[in-house]
Amino acid sequence: MNLNDAPRETRSTCPYCGVGCGVIIESRGDAITGVRGDPAHPANLGRLCTKGSTLHLTASPQVNQQTRLLQPLRRLQRGGPAQALAWDQALDLAGQKLADTVQQHGPNALGFYLSGQLLTEDYYVFNKLVKGLLGSNNLDTNSRLCMSSAVAGYKATLGADAPPASYTDVDHAHCLFITGSNTAWAHPILFRRIEDAKRARPEMKIVVVDPRRTDTVELADLHLALQPGTDVMLYHGMLHLMLREGWTQPAYIAAHTTGFEALVELVRDCTPERTAEVCGLRVEDLCEATRLFATSPATLSLYCQGLNQSSSGTSKNAALINLHLATGQIGRPGAAPFSLTGQPNAMGGREVGGLSNLLSAHRDMGNPAHRAEVAALWGVADVPAVPGKSAIEMFQAAADGEIKALWIACTNPAQSLPDQATVRRALERAEFVVVQEAFATTATTAYADLLLPATPWGEKTGTVTNSERRISRVRAALPPRGEARHDWAIGVALAQRLEARLRPGQPTLFPYDTQDALLGTEAIWLEHRESTRGRDLDITGLSYALLDTLGPQQWPWPEGARAGRVRLYEDGVFPTPDGRARFHSAAFRPVAEATDREHPYALNTGRLRDQWHGMSRTGTLGRLFGHAAEPALQMNPQDLAREGWAEGSLVRVQSRRGSVVLPVQACAEQAPQQVFIPMHWGQEFVSGRDADGQPHLGVNALMPSTFCPQSKQPELKHAAVRLSAAKLP
Ligand code: SF4
Repeated sequence: MNLNDAPRETRSTCPYCGVGCGVIIESRGDAITGVRGDPAHPANLGRLCTKGSTLHLTASPQVNQQTRLLQPLRRLQRGGPAQALAWDQALDLAGQKLADTVQQHGPNALGFYLSGQLLTEDYYVFNKLVKGLLGSNNLDTNSRLCMSSAVAGYKATLGADAPPASYTDVDHAHCLFITGSNTAWAHPILFRRIEDAKRARPEMKIVVVDPRRTDTVELADLHLALQPGTDVMLYHGMLHLMLREGWTQPAYIAAHTTGFEALVELVRDCTPERTAEVCGLRVEDLCEATRLFATSPATLSLYCQGLNQSSSGTSKNAALINLHLATGQIGRPGAAPFSLTGQPNAMGGREVGGLSNLLSAHRDMGNPAHRAEVAALWGVADVPAVPGKSAIEMFQAAADGEIKALWIACTNPAQSLPDQATVRRALERAEFVVVQEAFATTATTAYADLLLPATPWGEKTGTVTNSERRISRVRAALPPRGEARHDWAIGVALAQRLEARLRPGQPTLFPYDTQDALLGTEAIWLEHRESTRGRDLDITGLSYALLDTLGPQQWPWPEGARAGRVRLYEDGVFPTPDGRARFHSAAFRPVAEATDREHPYALNTGRLRDQWHGMSRTGTLGRLFGHAAEPALQMNPQDLAREGWAEGSLVRVQSRRGSVVLPVQACAEQAPQQVFIPMHWGQEFVSGRDADGQPHLGVNALMPSTFCPQSKQPELKHAAVRLSAAKLP
């Protein structure tokens, strides 16, 4: 940094969680020197959490120069040294390998695996490239691990993937029903708002449903510490009670819904006594939670991975939404089911159809008219009707040899996917693996035949959408470092090479200016905007210029509108063929892998307050380890005493798929027979090899790849494990 350089300020958006806080980046020369909360951004009103407020310490080129990938690299041999090559050579090689694979095996021999941390414009280009140009739906993202159950739950009940509430509804709620979410750690700035609301209105009741006594529970009036995976039983039992006590709203049900009779029949046996027994709760607490939910003037549910990351994730989401429909707790200030997105742009990915079973602007792959609309917009003959492979299916197919080439952008499946043994087999067996990344040192980069350097936050331009449907601009404070290119621009360059092979002589379908990031991203965004015309998420009245002038805005905002929509379904009309919401009748199913004598402990995984995902960024800053210095197995003190272990003893945690060795930590917040391991540490951080020569792969070596049949989201919140004393070799 040159002190003669003038200081600059750039308004942007935090790249971590789905709260989507606005930030002001302070920079000077080629350094990011500071970051502070944007007081004008409605999501955070100037506040930032520990992760957001240290962005300048993790994102500045001066800080992360050891970990950045700054030039294209090629490995001639797996596991061998990586050699630099020019961008043109790298892209020619990629285009040739992919086109050859398509010609030999068809387009479904390719798998593209992206990230909820990409910007909407990045997502749009890759979606068009894979589904439009290549004619395959094998494009999925790590958002599959994060919110695909919320998508399926909304569509099954309300008719569209649209969270109906806003953060401002926290200020209007009389009852907050927080379920499957440690909001205090996973969405800290939203939690600050909840704390403010409770302080201002102590009469507002907070019910928290979570097997663990988390920091979120500290604010609760009532904690339901249910047994892992029994959420559907709980919600069905609550509905049974509502019916028995006359707490449902028959007029709302009759006017705005269908399918209630079947649901009433389904919950007939879910008596309070049976529900309490299955869920491990007291009948009195169940009754009180139900009374608060149903009879409060406005109830807002906030929910996240505890519902989503489950083999019955769609049923959990839908059963909770059932309660809102049955009690009319929807479409009013402070009353709605409100899913929280984990990643900064999981929502933007959903908008452009960035999952293997979605099409642009909430269109359905199975609908011929929808496919024709998208094909016309993209200028291609058609879009395939058969859904592509979801994340778990994609890596299984690569491990089986069905998928020959993998393209991985901005995500680290060799750490974050469950059943790591299969994932790593997939990465080894695939004939060609491309990793498009900002960081050189993730577990996945070791498997790459070709590494393409991408720009990270601070150097990127585009848009993201947060949990409350609010579109925010992301702006670059610095130019791309080294030879890094923007993710969307890499997609465009690849597409143009593939076009030369697959549709020679025809005009490009990707006419975006890759030399000017602002012009290029705006052209992409305008095309995305046009795709939303007439859809539930219509943004045809918005523009980059309007977002610059007015600040971040919520969808829908159709042409001619003067504002976005704070709240959906206020008129009781839903985006279904008959305009009615649909009750969802699915029976309770327990977790896929029950504990037993051999594996008697229930393992849960999740976030820590100060770390993000696989720690590519937060792991570079010592200060962020002040909260938790190392991975540990958290365990109830009674269990610890019974096993005869002291705090810090090394314990082997063994599931049916693998094992890890960690120090044990006494944790009164854990229920007996339940243990917890944070998700952030992988092979790079838990170094060394086990006594049997196996590398330590992090907690996802233990987790099953069993997924929800509707949403295909894996059960990352539960595995049956056994524990034993261990020593490192
Ligand atoms: Fe960033 Fe989320 Fe923290 Fe806001 S709450 S500063 S979006 S990590």
